[in-house]
Amino acid sequence: MHIPFDNSYAALPDAFYTKLSPTSVKAPKLLAFNKYLAKVLGIEVDDIAEVSRVFSGNKIPQGAEPLAQLYAGHQFGNFNQQLGDGRAILLGEVIDTKGLRRDVQLKGSGRTPYSRGGDGRAWLGPVLREYVISEAMHALGIPTTRALAAVATGEDILREEGMLPGAVLTRVASSHLRVGTFEVFAHRGQPAELQTLTDYAIARHFPGATGPMDLLRGVCEKQAELVAAWMSVGFIHGVMNTDNCTISGETIDYGPCAFMDDFHMGRAFSSIDRQARYAYGNQPNMLMFNMAQLATALIQLFEDKDAALEEATAIIHAMPEQIEDAWLRRFAAKIGIAKPQVKDAELIQSFLDLMQKDGADFTNTFHALSGGSAQDRFTDRDAYQAWSQQHLARISNEPDPRAIMNSANPAVIPRNHRMEQMIKAAVAGDLAPFERLMTALATPYTPTDMDLAKPPAPSEIVPATFCGT
Ligand code: AMP
Ligand code: MG
Repeated sequence: MHIPFDNSYAALPDAFYTKLSPTSVKAPKLLAFNKYLAKVLGIEVDDIAEVSRVFSGNKIPQGAEPLAQLYAGHQFGNFNQQLGDGRAILLGEVIDTKGLRRDVQLKGSGRTPYSRGGDGRAWLGPVLREYVISEAMHALGIPTTRALAAVATGEDILREEGMLPGAVLTRVASSHLRVGTFEVFAHRGQPAELQTLTDYAIARHFPGATGPMDLLRGVCEKQAELVAAWMSVGFIHGVMNTDNCTISGETIDYGPCAFMDDFHMGRAFSSIDRQARYAYGNQPNMLMFNMAQLATALIQLFEDKDAALEEATAIIHAMPEQIEDAWLRRFAAKIGIAKPQVKDAELIQSFLDLMQKDGADFTNTFHALSGGSAQDRFTDRDAYQAWSQQHLARISNEPDPRAIMNSANPAVIPRNHRMEQMIKAAVAGDLAPFERLMTALATPYTPTDMDLAKPPAPSEIVPATFCGT
């Protein structure tokens, strides 16, 4: 196998990482390999047996410079001064066929100096979950890290649920720079490293940016778009800690995330998110908290801290409007409006209110709206009719509302109960449900398998997701 590595992070000063190799596993067995993505990355495979050796960490491919990255982060609002890759190892970077620099990282590849009490491993369930959901997000058109490979390790690991089969995920990202990467150097009072990191992030992600404030502005813009995109498909990230918030604007870390079935603004799934801090409707607020942490770190680079604080504050204060704009654009498309006006937000909101009152299925109700059969989804027919009349009047002069809705309302999303069923089957050695989901989720807007669009039967409902990854 040839991976055309072109590493830049490994050339940064030692303070940024620890160089070390993955820990070998007993009996690597390839579960999934994303050959389309491999092709985009310029990876050439001649011996498929080598794929499981490389993407389990048993063989270091030529040109790799394996390392674990250092970072810190605010977790559930509290600062944790040292996190870092506790079970991930960056093999290196490639410049893909489109000219984009991308990280190739193993996750679940053994202990590192940042593992704290953890075993450095991942179990099969969350590995396949991340594989399916990250690829589904990509197919939905939402910026995300990607999944290149999943390999079973042949070793069992201990989790709360008992002994579980281990696996390694190979993740591809525009970079693994996080808000927490900036926080660690700001907190330690290392301005030289903070400056180096800032220059690196600008060169890699915002080549036009003129300095730290411009970087902050760029990250805020990308993240505002991202959170609106999540909300437009009913996605709840579940653990929006600053170490899981990228500088690139890609979704990262699919631990306890979930797509919601019946709509509720307050929906939360993660079993460790007891206060529902990261609930569906609270995500914009949490994003602003995260961007404020990035701002706080970047301010340290300025001599005139008061002026920097003022400028950074203005950037953060612009975020509610940015998020609302992005939200309006996304949700207007979902009801067939190409160029929304500010007052369209009311029309959208009243539709969401009706959905919430009835606990209507988020995905299927919007999809039914594109198909003209949304009335069947509501118990209060009169209220729906009143809304529908307003809606029809509004879209009557839109050129092609149906086409707009079709491109904004997916039919199939990775539903939680299907994820659980897929994991159960995979643990028992049956990858057919995994393959089936991967096929259906590749074309979410032109469904091929409508059975997967069904919400869970009462007995199938999965009310919580677990971080026991
Ligand atoms: P996460 O919640 O997955 O973003 O992880 C938060 C932090 O815990 C990161 O620094 C991870 O690398 C670390 N971590 C999570 N699981 C493990 C594990 N099994 N072993 C070692 N470190 C872990
Ligand atoms: Mg993380």
